[in-house]
Amino acid sequence: MSLRFEAITKLTDEVEAGGAKSSKITAIFGESVFTLKTAREYLSDEAYKSLVGSIKGGKKIDRANASQIANGLRAWAESKGVTHFTHWFQPLTGTTAEKHDSFFTLKSDGTAIEEFDGAALVQQEPDASSFPNGGLRATFEARGYTAWDPSSPAFIIEIGHGKTLCIPTIFVSYTGESLDYKAPLLKALEALNKAAVDVCNYFDKNVNKVTGTLGWEQEYFVIDEALANARPDLVQSGRTVFGAAPAKGQQLEDHYFGTIPERVYAFMRDFENEAYKLGIPLRTRHNEVAPAQFECAPIFEEINIAVDHNTLLMDVMNRVAKRHKLKVLLHEKPFAGINGSGKHNNWSLATDTGVNLLAPGKTPKTNLMFLTFFVNTIKAVHDYADILRASIASAPNDHRLGANEAPPAIISVFVGQYLFKVLEEVETRVGDNFDEQDEAILKLDLHRSIPELLMDNTDRNRTSPFAFTGNKFEFRAVGSTANCANPMTILNTIMAQTLKTFKKDVDALIEKGEKKEIAIMQTIQQYIVASKKVLFEGDGYSEEWHAEAEKRGLPNLKTTPVALDALVTDKAKALFASNNIYTHSELEARHEIELEKYLKKVQIEARVMGDLALNHIIPAAVKYLTQLAGNIESLKAVGVPETTYRSQLAILNEVSEHINIVYEQVNAMVEARKVANNIADTRARAIAYCDDVKGVYFDKIRYHVDKLEHLVDDEEWTLPKYREMLFLR
Ligand code: ADP
Ligand code: MG
Repeated sequence: MSLRFEAITKLTDEVEAGGAKSSKITAIFGESVFTLKTAREYLSDEAYKSLVGSIKGGKKIDRANASQIANGLRAWAESKGVTHFTHWFQPLTGTTAEKHDSFFTLKSDGTAIEEFDGAALVQQEPDASSFPNGGLRATFEARGYTAWDPSSPAFIIEIGHGKTLCIPTIFVSYTGESLDYKAPLLKALEALNKAAVDVCNYFDKNVNKVTGTLGWEQEYFVIDEALANARPDLVQSGRTVFGAAPAKGQQLEDHYFGTIPERVYAFMRDFENEAYKLGIPLRTRHNEVAPAQFECAPIFEEINIAVDHNTLLMDVMNRVAKRHKLKVLLHEKPFAGINGSGKHNNWSLATDTGVNLLAPGKTPKTNLMFLTFFVNTIKAVHDYADILRASIASAPNDHRLGANEAPPAIISVFVGQYLFKVLEEVETRVGDNFDEQDEAILKLDLHRSIPELLMDNTDRNRTSPFAFTGNKFEFRAVGSTANCANPMTILNTIMAQTLKTFKKDVDALIEKGEKKEIAIMQTIQQYIVASKKVLFEGDGYSEEWHAEAEKRGLPNLKTTPVALDALVTDKAKALFASNNIYTHSELEARHEIELEKYLKKVQIEARVMGDLALNHIIPAAVKYLTQLAGNIESLKAVGVPETTYRSQLAILNEVSEHINIVYEQVNAMVEARKVANNIADTRARAIAYCDDVKGVYFDKIRYHVDKLEHLVDDEEWTLPKYREMLFLR
């Protein structure tokens, strides 16, 4: 019996409801995290103060205090049965990495003890050459080290009966180049902090710190594990490369916000429980648009923590799913023909005085502050749209962007009718009586009107890649597998840069003798004029928008290899170097790594397609042909006229034709791959994979395979079908 039928048969025995017992979330929240509250219990006054100083003020922790903190961490961890520790980091592979060491060690006389010293807490040395380094290895030493990031708290991961203390770290080469997603993010947040505090001080001298906030929404699919395991394409590439559309897909729109299926519900409650223990503040769960698609979202947090929590959660979901014999598909497009998955990044800025800088103010003064940050964001997206686009470019996300279910690859900003009018008004106010009119604008009741207008509108324009939603922007084009650190690094860097320039522009006007408020208003006005073309309120899925965007000169880069070019332009190099995020060589390295990742993913998919075609599809089709031929033969033998078996002959011919095409196209694709593989330049090779391999063959081969799926005897078909994966659970 093929795996497909085994899986289907097993399914009915497997299903058991259950999941975590409902209990008060506050009773378990953060129990596996070394929170400041726990730290207070386990650390001396001095060590505690030094830890807080590092978290709140970025102060360095000295050796003595590091050792004390390490001891405290170990005491806490051991009280929970932990035996090992690991530096936990986020290399550019896109997953998380860990290498476990035990606390256990031997003294020189052979006495066994448990130990965790400051040095082990602060720094470890994984071999950097086995992680993507984009050629940095060639020019620099292969060695790299992970360094403790005290701003993200340590936590305990429990797998089976094993427990490990995880220390969040950054990963850098010995010469200081960053090799992970976190190091540049921390730098970008620091740049943003400086630039934003400076601008805040125009309005409020008490602001000393500005942090970025992030609330991500994670979309995902869940299917039966045995069915997933019977699909080599899902196992190897995370998406189905073949599969005919089922009779019923998402056309009845009966899944979104529907009742959560019991088995999935049990799984959700289990992974939520794990998440709560890890301090991940999950808040919502619901069915998404496509069958078998779901979403969860937390309460927003500081970006650094939110990023860790998202990567951690993806890991937790994968593990917990196994317990339920389910498979989580985080891929951006696991199934053709129905919606893919994104990870909306809700983003805002918060001051240490408790103000959300993107929430409309209640008074003219706070209105002006809101308008300042609001317009600076629009200007940042306008000026660096290409780099923002590059930040979300990946092979899987290419299936989504512009596929009329997700925002297009054109970066635009949606602000809502009301704010659009406000911006237009500000823009048109010029001349001598600017002063007076300026007052009028600031007296607008933004505080009450904006939230109401935006909340009212049930369709808050879901088609925009970057939308204002009342008190935050929502970057919707991010893919479901992405590490949010990447888009967040870029968004915060371009914001920092724009705010820096803004401050310079305003100061220049003040120096010329302008009143501060007028200088700010005039600069805001200039920025609106300069960035207006990025504003778009209409339907981002429409053909008209594509034409309109082209007229406006907005780039529409549909594929990753060319979208990534924006990372290495002179503009990008200047931006990242002047804000201390990436050196030129780091940027070149990232570019190279992203291209490599892209082409390897496409290469894997191409190979999987070939394997499936030759080992699954054609054999099944040939068996069916043999049946047909045998039957026709016997009918012929008994002497019935050909018209009796004319349909079988027609099917036989049709099936044969599809087999021939699939076989020929798979071979031709292999040749195209050989040609691509021989291209030395990485960018050119990635483009060849995109245009000459994927572009020419993927859809064509799939078309004929999916036709065969419709024709061939269901009994012979070995791959689980869409209707089974999406609806059986
Ligand atoms: P929806 O966008 O689906 O209507 P919400 O507006 O409640 O839902 O929020 C979606 C996400 O935005 C949540 O993860 C939430 O925590 C986050 N969010 C809300 N306010 C902010 C903020 N100031 N900064 C960052 N994220 C935020
Ligand atoms: Mg949302």
